[in-house]
Amino acid sequence: MCVKGENLSKVGRGFKPNLPVTAAVNPDGRAGGRGADAVAAVDPLESPQFFAGGSALTVPSIPATPIETDALIIGAGPAGLFQVFELGLLGIKSHIVDTLPHPGGQCAELYPDKPIYDIPALPVCGAQELVDRLMQQIAPMGPVFHFGEEVAELQRQDDGRFFIRTSAGSEFLARTVVVAAGLGSFQPRRLGVEGCDAFEDRQVHYRVRSAAEFHGKRLVIFGGGDSALDWVVDLTGKATSLVHVHRRPEFRAAPASVARMQQLVAEGRMSYVEGIAAGIRSEDGRLTGVTVKRTDGVLQDVPADHVLAFFGLHPKLGPIAEWGFELEKKAIKVDTAKFQTSVPGIFAIGDINTYPGKKKLILSGFHEAALAAFAIAEHLNPAKKVHLQYTTTSPIMQKRLGVTE
Ligand SMILES: Cc1cc2nc3c(=O)[nH]c(=O)nc-3n(C[C@H](O)[C@H](O)[C@H](O)COP(=O)(O)OP(=O)(O)OC[C@H]3O[C@@H](n4cnc5c(N)ncnc54)[C@H](O)[C@@H]3O)c2cc1C
Repeated sequence: MCVKGENLSKVGRGFKPNLPVTAAVNPDGRAGGRGADAVAAVDPLESPQFFAGGSALTVPSIPATPIETDALIIGAGPAGLFQVFELGLLGIKSHIVDTLPHPGGQCAELYPDKPIYDIPALPVCGAQELVDRLMQQIAPMGPVFHFGEEVAELQRQDDGRFFIRTSAGSEFLARTVVVAAGLGSFQPRRLGVEGCDAFEDRQVHYRVRSAAEFHGKRLVIFGGGDSALDWVVDLTGKATSLVHVHRRPEFRAAPASVARMQQLVAEGRMSYVEGIAAGIRSEDGRLTGVTVKRTDGVLQDVPADHVLAFFGLHPKLGPIAEWGFELEKKAIKVDTAKFQTSVPGIFAIGDINTYPGKKKLILSGFHEAALAAFAIAEHLNPAKKVHLQYTTTSPIMQKRLGVTE
Protein backbone atom coordinates (compact mmCIF):
# COMPACT_ATOMS: atom_id res chain seq x y z
CA MET A 1 0.00 0.00 0.00
CA CYS A 2 1.41 3.33 -1.04
CA VAL A 3 -0.35 5.42 1.56
CA LYS A 4 1.08 6.73 4.71
CA GLY A 5 -0.74 5.26 7.68
CA GLU A 6 -1.93 7.55 10.43
CA ASN A 7 -4.14 6.98 13.38
CA LEU A 8 -7.57 8.46 12.95
CA SER A 9 -7.46 9.75 16.49
CA LYS A 10 -5.69 12.75 15.06
CA VAL A 11 -8.54 13.63 12.80
CA GLY A 12 -11.76 12.04 13.96
CA ARG A 13 -13.94 13.93 16.36
CA GLY A 14 -15.70 11.32 18.41
CA PHE A 15 -15.12 7.61 18.18
CA LYS A 16 -11.52 6.96 17.17
CA PRO A 17 -10.95 3.61 15.54
CA ASN A 18 -7.44 2.87 14.41
CA LEU A 19 -7.94 3.33 10.68
CA PRO A 20 -5.33 4.33 8.16
CA VAL A 21 -5.71 7.89 7.03
CA THR A 22 -3.82 10.45 5.08
CA ALA A 23 -4.44 14.18 5.14
CA ALA A 24 -3.11 16.88 2.91
CA VAL A 25 -4.32 19.70 5.08
CA ASN A 26 -4.07 19.93 8.80
CA PRO A 27 -7.39 19.08 10.38
CA ASP A 28 -8.67 20.89 13.40
CA GLY A 29 -8.26 17.93 15.70
CA ARG A 30 -11.00 19.11 18.01
CA ALA A 31 -12.93 16.45 19.84
CA GLY A 32 -16.68 16.19 19.45
CA GLY A 33 -18.91 18.35 17.27
CA ARG A 34 -18.27 21.99 16.62
CA GLY A 35 -21.48 23.29 18.11
CA ALA A 36 -23.01 26.51 16.94
CA ASP A 37 -19.93 27.30 14.93
CA ALA A 38 -20.66 24.53 12.54
CA VAL A 39 -24.01 25.73 11.25
CA ALA A 40 -23.77 26.69 7.62
CA ALA A 41 -20.28 27.88 7.93
CA VAL A 42 -16.95 28.25 9.45
CA ASP A 43 -13.78 26.69 9.98
CA PRO A 44 -12.99 23.12 9.78
CA LEU A 45 -9.83 23.31 7.84
CA GLU A 46 -7.88 24.86 10.62
CA SER A 47 -7.41 25.44 14.24
CA PRO A 48 -4.24 26.24 16.11
CA GLN A 49 -5.03 23.52 18.64
CA PHE A 50 -4.00 21.01 16.06
CA PHE A 51 -0.51 22.42 15.98
CA ALA A 52 -0.28 22.92 19.70
CA GLY A 53 1.02 19.45 20.33
CA GLY A 54 3.33 19.66 17.35
CA SER A 55 1.57 16.69 15.83
CA ALA A 56 0.51 17.98 12.45
CA LEU A 57 -0.45 15.21 10.09
CA THR A 58 2.17 14.81 7.48
CA VAL A 59 1.38 15.53 3.88
CA PRO A 60 1.10 12.10 2.32
CA SER A 61 4.04 11.06 0.29
CA ILE A 62 2.76 10.97 -3.25
CA PRO A 63 3.27 7.48 -4.60
CA ALA A 64 5.41 7.14 -7.70
CA THR A 65 2.78 4.81 -9.12
CA PRO A 66 -0.98 5.20 -8.64
CA ILE A 67 -2.64 3.34 -5.79
CA GLU A 68 -4.53 0.40 -7.27
CA THR A 69 -7.87 -0.43 -5.73
CA ASP A 70 -11.06 -2.32 -6.49
CA ALA A 71 -13.22 0.54 -5.27
CA LEU A 72 -12.61 4.23 -4.75
CA ILE A 73 -15.29 6.18 -2.91
CA ILE A 74 -15.52 9.93 -3.41
CA GLY A 75 -17.05 11.47 -0.29
CA ALA A 76 -16.96 10.37 3.35
CA GLY A 77 -20.46 11.52 4.28
CA PRO A 78 -22.89 8.97 5.75
CA ALA A 79 -23.53 7.39 2.34
CA GLY A 80 -19.83 7.01 1.49
CA LEU A 81 -19.06 5.61 4.94
CA PHE A 82 -21.81 3.02 4.73
CA GLN A 83 -20.63 2.11 1.23
CA VAL A 84 -17.34 1.03 2.82
CA PHE A 85 -19.31 -1.31 5.06
CA GLU A 86 -21.49 -2.83 2.37
CA LEU A 87 -18.50 -3.39 0.09
CA GLY A 88 -16.56 -4.85 3.01
CA LEU A 89 -19.31 -7.38 3.72
CA LEU A 90 -18.82 -8.64 0.16
CA GLY A 91 -15.06 -8.79 0.64
CA ILE A 92 -14.24 -5.64 -1.33
CA LYS A 93 -11.70 -3.21 0.15
CA SER A 94 -12.00 0.48 -0.56
CA HIS A 95 -10.19 3.80 -0.46
CA ILE A 96 -12.24 6.86 0.42
CA VAL A 97 -11.35 10.48 -0.39
CA ASP A 98 -12.90 13.64 1.05
CA THR A 99 -12.14 17.33 0.72
CA LEU A 100 -12.90 17.77 4.39
CA PRO A 101 -10.27 16.93 6.99
CA HIS A 102 -12.66 14.56 8.77
CA PRO A 103 -15.47 12.09 8.01
CA GLY A 104 -19.19 12.85 8.16
CA GLY A 105 -20.07 15.19 5.29
CA GLN A 106 -23.06 17.41 6.06
CA CYS A 107 -23.71 15.70 9.41
CA ALA A 108 -20.30 16.65 10.75
CA GLU A 109 -19.95 19.91 8.92
CA LEU A 110 -23.37 21.53 9.06
CA TYR A 111 -25.23 20.12 12.05
CA PRO A 112 -23.05 17.94 14.31
CA ASP A 113 -25.01 18.70 17.48
CA LYS A 114 -28.51 18.41 16.02
CA PRO A 115 -30.60 15.31 16.73
CA ILE A 116 -31.69 13.02 13.90
CA TYR A 117 -34.94 11.13 14.46
CA ASP A 118 -35.32 9.06 11.30
CA ILE A 119 -32.49 6.54 11.43
CA PRO A 120 -34.07 3.08 11.76
CA ALA A 121 -33.82 1.59 15.26
CA LEU A 122 -32.23 4.74 16.67
CA PRO A 123 -35.14 6.84 17.98
CA VAL A 124 -32.77 9.75 18.36
CA CYS A 125 -29.15 10.11 17.36
CA GLY A 126 -26.89 13.17 17.26
CA ALA A 127 -25.51 13.87 13.78
CA GLN A 128 -21.89 13.60 14.91
CA GLU A 129 -22.84 10.55 16.96
CA LEU A 130 -24.16 8.93 13.78
CA VAL A 131 -20.83 9.58 12.07
CA ASP A 132 -18.95 8.16 15.05
CA ARG A 133 -21.14 5.05 15.02
CA LEU A 134 -20.61 4.59 11.29
CA MET A 135 -16.86 4.90 11.77
CA GLN A 136 -17.06 2.24 14.46
CA GLN A 137 -19.15 -0.02 12.25
CA ILE A 138 -16.87 0.23 9.22
CA ALA A 139 -13.58 -0.13 11.12
CA PRO A 140 -13.36 -3.93 10.55
CA MET A 141 -13.51 -3.35 6.78
CA GLY A 142 -10.15 -1.57 6.88
CA PRO A 143 -10.87 1.38 4.59
CA VAL A 144 -8.04 3.77 3.76
CA PHE A 145 -9.02 7.42 4.18
CA HIS A 146 -7.57 10.32 2.25
CA PHE A 147 -8.82 13.45 3.98
CA GLY A 148 -8.26 17.04 2.91
CA GLU A 149 -8.05 16.03 -0.74
CA GLU A 150 -10.53 16.94 -3.44
CA VAL A 151 -10.92 14.53 -6.31
CA ALA A 152 -10.14 16.80 -9.21
CA GLU A 153 -9.72 14.41 -12.14
CA LEU A 154 -11.48 11.24 -13.19
CA GLN A 155 -10.72 9.52 -16.47
CA ARG A 156 -11.63 6.16 -17.93
CA GLN A 157 -8.62 4.14 -19.08
CA ASP A 158 -8.47 1.82 -22.07
CA ASP A 159 -8.38 -1.21 -19.76
CA GLY A 160 -11.72 -0.17 -18.21
CA ARG A 161 -10.19 1.11 -14.97
CA PHE A 162 -10.47 4.70 -13.81
CA PHE A 163 -7.60 7.07 -13.21
CA ILE A 164 -8.26 9.48 -10.36
CA ARG A 165 -6.11 12.39 -9.25
CA THR A 166 -6.72 14.54 -6.18
CA SER A 167 -5.91 18.16 -5.44
CA ALA A 168 -3.04 16.93 -3.27
CA GLY A 169 -1.57 14.91 -6.13
CA SER A 170 -2.58 11.44 -4.93
CA GLU A 171 -3.30 9.15 -7.85
CA PHE A 172 -5.45 6.03 -8.04
CA LEU A 173 -6.28 3.37 -10.54
CA ALA A 174 -9.68 2.07 -9.50
CA ARG A 175 -11.68 -0.74 -11.03
CA THR A 176 -14.89 0.90 -9.82
CA VAL A 177 -15.76 4.34 -8.45
CA VAL A 178 -18.59 5.32 -6.13
CA VAL A 179 -19.49 9.00 -6.21
CA ALA A 180 -20.95 9.77 -2.78
CA ALA A 181 -20.29 13.47 -3.04
CA GLY A 182 -23.50 14.81 -1.47
CA LEU A 183 -24.12 18.42 -2.32
CA GLY A 184 -20.57 18.72 -3.58
CA SER A 185 -17.23 19.32 -2.02
CA PHE A 186 -17.03 21.76 0.85
CA GLN A 187 -15.11 24.89 -0.10
CA PRO A 188 -14.13 27.88 2.02
CA ARG A 189 -16.27 31.01 1.66
CA ARG A 190 -14.00 33.64 0.23
CA LEU A 191 -13.30 37.23 1.21
CA GLY A 192 -15.14 38.48 -1.87
CA VAL A 193 -13.28 41.73 -2.42
CA GLU A 194 -11.89 42.69 -5.78
CA GLY A 195 -8.32 41.60 -6.44
CA CYS A 196 -7.91 39.30 -3.43
CA ASP A 197 -8.00 36.09 -5.51
CA ALA A 198 -4.59 36.95 -6.95
CA PHE A 199 -3.08 36.69 -3.47
CA GLU A 200 -4.83 33.48 -2.43
CA ASP A 201 -2.55 31.02 -0.64
CA ARG A 202 0.32 33.55 -0.79
CA GLN A 203 -1.02 36.35 1.38
CA VAL A 204 -4.75 35.65 1.58
CA HIS A 205 -5.53 32.40 3.37
CA TYR A 206 -8.66 30.39 4.09
CA ARG A 207 -6.83 27.66 5.94
CA VAL A 208 -3.59 27.47 7.87
CA ARG A 209 -1.05 25.11 6.44
CA SER A 210 1.85 26.24 8.60
CA ALA A 211 1.27 28.60 11.51
CA ALA A 212 4.97 29.47 11.59
CA GLU A 213 4.63 31.41 8.34
CA PHE A 214 2.60 34.03 10.25
CA HIS A 215 5.06 34.52 13.08
CA GLY A 216 6.70 37.96 12.97
CA LYS A 217 4.17 39.18 10.40
CA ARG A 218 1.36 41.77 10.41
CA LEU A 219 -1.92 39.87 10.37
CA VAL A 220 -5.58 40.64 9.84
CA ILE A 221 -7.95 37.83 10.79
CA PHE A 222 -11.61 37.86 9.70
CA GLY A 223 -14.42 35.78 11.17
CA GLY A 224 -16.47 35.18 14.29
CA GLY A 225 -16.39 31.40 14.61
CA ASP A 226 -14.10 29.05 16.48
CA SER A 227 -11.39 28.95 13.84
CA ALA A 228 -11.07 32.71 13.64
CA LEU A 229 -11.05 33.12 17.41
CA ASP A 230 -8.69 30.19 17.98
CA TRP A 231 -6.16 31.64 15.57
CA VAL A 232 -6.56 35.16 16.95
CA VAL A 233 -5.75 33.91 20.42
CA ASP A 234 -2.97 31.62 19.23
CA LEU A 235 -1.17 34.10 16.98
CA THR A 236 -1.38 37.11 19.28
CA GLY A 237 2.14 37.67 20.55
CA LYS A 238 3.65 35.60 17.76
CA ALA A 239 2.60 38.01 15.00
CA THR A 240 4.12 41.52 14.88
CA SER A 241 0.62 42.96 14.93
CA LEU A 242 -2.81 41.37 14.83
CA VAL A 243 -6.15 42.95 13.98
CA HIS A 244 -9.28 40.86 14.32
CA VAL A 245 -12.25 41.90 12.17
CA HIS A 246 -15.80 40.61 12.62
CA ARG A 247 -18.99 41.98 11.12
CA ARG A 248 -21.25 42.02 14.20
CA PRO A 249 -21.08 42.02 17.99
CA GLU A 250 -22.29 38.39 18.26
CA PHE A 251 -19.82 35.53 17.81
CA ARG A 252 -20.41 31.88 16.99
CA ALA A 253 -17.18 30.91 18.70
CA ALA A 254 -16.97 29.42 22.18
CA PRO A 255 -17.62 32.16 24.79
CA ALA A 256 -14.28 31.39 26.49
CA SER A 257 -12.38 32.18 23.27
CA VAL A 258 -14.32 35.42 22.81
CA ALA A 259 -13.57 36.41 26.41
CA ARG A 260 -9.87 35.65 25.88
CA MET A 261 -9.80 37.77 22.71
CA GLN A 262 -11.46 40.67 24.53
CA GLN A 263 -8.94 40.35 27.33
CA LEU A 264 -6.05 40.51 24.82
CA VAL A 265 -7.61 43.65 23.32
CA ALA A 266 -7.96 45.20 26.80
CA GLU A 267 -4.28 44.42 27.47
CA GLY A 268 -3.37 46.22 24.23
CA ARG A 269 -1.83 43.09 22.69
CA MET A 270 -4.09 43.08 19.63
CA SER A 271 -6.90 45.16 18.10
CA TYR A 272 -10.49 44.43 17.27
CA VAL A 273 -12.53 46.15 14.56
CA GLU A 274 -16.23 45.55 13.91
CA GLY A 275 -16.75 45.69 10.17
CA ILE A 276 -16.30 43.93 6.85
CA ALA A 277 -13.61 43.78 4.18
CA ALA A 278 -14.12 46.54 1.63
CA GLY A 279 -10.93 46.24 -0.41
CA ILE A 280 -7.31 45.25 -0.46
CA ARG A 281 -4.26 47.40 -0.98
CA SER A 282 -1.19 46.25 -2.85
CA GLU A 283 2.12 47.52 -4.15
CA ASP A 284 4.42 45.94 -6.72
CA GLY A 285 2.38 42.73 -6.78
CA ARG A 286 2.39 42.33 -3.00
CA LEU A 287 -0.56 42.78 -0.70
CA THR A 288 0.17 45.57 1.77
CA GLY A 289 -3.11 45.80 3.66
CA VAL A 290 -6.88 45.68 3.69
CA THR A 291 -9.54 48.35 3.84
CA VAL A 292 -12.22 47.60 6.41
CA LYS A 293 -15.63 49.22 6.33
CA ARG A 294 -16.48 49.60 9.98
CA THR A 295 -20.05 49.22 11.20
CA ASP A 296 -20.04 52.98 11.88
CA GLY A 297 -19.49 53.47 8.13
CA VAL A 298 -15.90 54.68 8.37
CA LEU A 299 -13.33 53.12 5.99
CA GLN A 300 -10.22 52.06 7.88
CA ASP A 301 -6.97 50.97 6.24
CA VAL A 302 -5.20 48.19 8.09
CA PRO A 303 -1.63 47.32 7.06
CA ALA A 304 -1.05 43.58 6.68
CA ASP A 305 1.41 41.02 5.36
CA HIS A 306 -1.18 38.25 5.55
CA VAL A 307 -4.96 38.14 5.67
CA LEU A 308 -6.70 35.09 7.15
CA ALA A 309 -10.43 34.69 6.59
CA PHE A 310 -12.55 32.03 8.29
CA PHE A 311 -16.08 32.40 6.98
CA GLY A 312 -16.90 28.72 6.93
CA LEU A 313 -17.48 26.27 4.14
CA HIS A 314 -20.17 25.71 1.57
CA PRO A 315 -20.68 22.74 -0.72
CA LYS A 316 -19.94 23.19 -4.42
CA LEU A 317 -20.48 20.57 -7.10
CA GLY A 318 -17.02 21.40 -8.44
CA PRO A 319 -15.18 19.06 -10.80
CA ILE A 320 -17.92 16.38 -10.73
CA ALA A 321 -19.89 18.45 -13.23
CA GLU A 322 -17.11 17.95 -15.78
CA TRP A 323 -16.76 14.17 -15.62
CA GLY A 324 -19.26 13.45 -18.36
CA PHE A 325 -22.13 12.02 -16.29
CA GLU A 326 -25.69 12.50 -17.33
CA LEU A 327 -26.89 15.17 -14.90
CA GLU A 328 -30.28 16.49 -13.90
CA LYS A 329 -30.47 19.64 -11.79
CA LYS A 330 -26.86 19.22 -10.65
CA ALA A 331 -27.46 15.59 -9.60
CA ILE A 332 -26.11 12.46 -11.28
CA LYS A 333 -28.72 10.28 -12.97
CA VAL A 334 -28.61 6.63 -11.90
CA ASP A 335 -30.71 3.51 -12.33
CA THR A 336 -32.43 2.16 -9.26
CA ALA A 337 -31.22 -1.43 -9.50
CA LYS A 338 -27.48 -0.76 -9.37
CA PHE A 339 -27.23 2.97 -8.76
CA GLN A 340 -24.88 3.05 -11.71
CA THR A 341 -24.28 6.30 -13.58
CA SER A 342 -24.25 6.70 -17.35
CA VAL A 343 -20.62 5.51 -17.17
CA PRO A 344 -20.44 1.73 -16.49
CA GLY A 345 -18.27 1.05 -13.46
CA ILE A 346 -19.08 4.38 -11.83
CA PHE A 347 -21.86 4.40 -9.27
CA ALA A 348 -23.48 7.33 -7.46
CA ILE A 349 -25.22 7.15 -4.09
CA GLY A 350 -26.60 9.57 -1.51
CA ASP A 351 -27.55 13.19 -2.09
CA ILE A 352 -25.51 13.44 -5.30
CA ASN A 353 -27.75 11.11 -7.32
CA THR A 354 -31.20 11.42 -8.76
CA TYR A 355 -33.86 9.00 -10.01
CA PRO A 356 -37.66 9.04 -10.04
CA GLY A 357 -38.85 9.45 -6.48
CA LYS A 358 -35.43 10.27 -5.02
CA LYS A 359 -35.50 11.61 -1.48
CA LYS A 360 -32.34 13.19 -0.09
CA LEU A 361 -32.30 11.31 3.19
CA ILE A 362 -29.52 9.43 4.96
CA LEU A 363 -31.76 6.36 4.91
CA SER A 364 -31.91 6.49 1.09
CA GLY A 365 -28.11 6.67 0.90
CA PHE A 366 -27.80 3.55 3.06
CA HIS A 367 -30.17 1.55 0.84
CA GLU A 368 -28.41 2.75 -2.30
CA ALA A 369 -25.02 1.74 -0.85
CA ALA A 370 -26.26 -1.82 -0.27
CA LEU A 371 -27.50 -2.28 -3.82
CA ALA A 372 -24.48 -0.55 -5.34
CA ALA A 373 -22.20 -2.95 -3.44
CA PHE A 374 -23.85 -5.98 -5.07
CA ALA A 375 -23.58 -4.33 -8.48
CA ILE A 376 -19.92 -3.52 -7.87
CA ALA A 377 -19.20 -7.12 -6.86
CA GLU A 378 -20.77 -8.28 -10.12
CA HIS A 379 -18.87 -5.65 -12.10
CA LEU A 380 -15.57 -6.76 -10.57
CA ASN A 381 -16.27 -10.42 -11.14
CA PRO A 382 -19.00 -10.90 -13.76
CA ALA A 383 -18.55 -14.67 -13.82
CA LYS A 384 -19.39 -15.07 -10.14
CA LYS A 385 -22.93 -14.80 -8.89
CA VAL A 386 -23.21 -12.83 -5.66
CA HIS A 387 -25.61 -14.53 -3.27
CA LEU A 388 -27.46 -12.68 -0.57
CA GLN A 389 -26.22 -13.64 2.85
CA TYR A 390 -27.33 -12.58 6.30
CA THR A 391 -24.77 -11.18 8.72
CA THR A 392 -26.64 -13.12 11.41
CA THR A 393 -25.78 -16.47 9.89
CA SER A 394 -22.99 -16.03 7.34
CA PRO A 395 -19.62 -17.29 8.69
CA ILE A 396 -17.69 -15.45 5.97
CA MET A 397 -19.41 -12.15 6.70
CA GLN A 398 -18.86 -12.63 10.40
CA LYS A 399 -15.18 -13.20 9.70
CA ARG A 400 -15.06 -9.97 7.68
CA LEU A 401 -16.79 -8.23 10.55
CA GLY A 402 -14.16 -9.56 12.91
CA VAL A 403 -16.72 -11.22 15.18
CA THR A 404 -15.43 -14.74 14.52
CA GLU A 405 -11.98 -16.14 13.70
C1 LIG B 1 -29.43 20.91 8.84
C2 LIG B 1 -29.65 19.57 8.20
C3 LIG B 1 -30.41 18.63 8.85
C4 LIG B 1 -30.63 17.37 8.26
N1 LIG B 1 -31.39 16.45 8.93
C5 LIG B 1 -31.59 15.23 8.37
C6 LIG B 1 -32.39 14.24 9.05
O1 LIG B 1 -32.93 14.49 10.13
N2 LIG B 1 -32.53 13.03 8.45
C7 LIG B 1 -31.97 12.71 7.25
O2 LIG B 1 -32.12 11.60 6.76
N3 LIG B 1 -31.23 13.65 6.58
C8 LIG B 1 -31.03 14.88 7.11
N4 LIG B 1 -30.29 15.81 6.43
C9 LIG B 1 -29.75 15.46 5.10
C10 LIG B 1 -28.52 14.55 5.25
O3 LIG B 1 -27.54 15.20 6.02
C11 LIG B 1 -28.00 14.22 3.87
O4 LIG B 1 -28.98 13.51 3.17
C12 LIG B 1 -26.75 13.36 3.97
O5 LIG B 1 -25.71 14.04 4.63
C13 LIG B 1 -26.27 12.94 2.58
O6 LIG B 1 -25.16 12.13 2.76
P1 LIG B 1 -24.10 11.95 1.59
O7 LIG B 1 -23.06 11.03 2.14
O8 LIG B 1 -24.79 11.62 0.34
O9 LIG B 1 -23.48 13.43 1.33
P2 LIG B 1 -22.76 14.48 2.29
O10 LIG B 1 -23.14 14.30 3.69
O11 LIG B 1 -23.01 15.80 1.64
O12 LIG B 1 -21.21 14.12 2.12
C14 LIG B 1 -20.58 14.25 0.88
C15 LIG B 1 -19.08 14.38 1.09
O13 LIG B 1 -18.45 14.34 -0.20
C16 LIG B 1 -17.35 15.21 -0.20
N5 LIG B 1 -17.02 15.55 -1.59
C17 LIG B 1 -17.82 16.10 -2.52
N6 LIG B 1 -17.17 16.27 -3.69
C18 LIG B 1 -15.91 15.80 -3.49
C19 LIG B 1 -14.75 15.72 -4.29
N7 LIG B 1 -14.74 16.12 -5.58
N8 LIG B 1 -13.62 15.20 -3.75
C20 LIG B 1 -13.60 14.79 -2.44
N9 LIG B 1 -14.68 14.86 -1.63
C21 LIG B 1 -15.81 15.36 -2.14
C22 LIG B 1 -17.84 16.41 0.62
O14 LIG B 1 -16.74 17.14 1.14
C23 LIG B 1 -18.67 15.71 1.71
O15 LIG B 1 -17.92 15.47 2.87
C24 LIG B 1 -30.07 17.07 6.98
C25 LIG B 1 -29.29 18.04 6.34
C26 LIG B 1 -29.07 19.28 6.92
C27 LIG B 1 -28.23 20.30 6.20
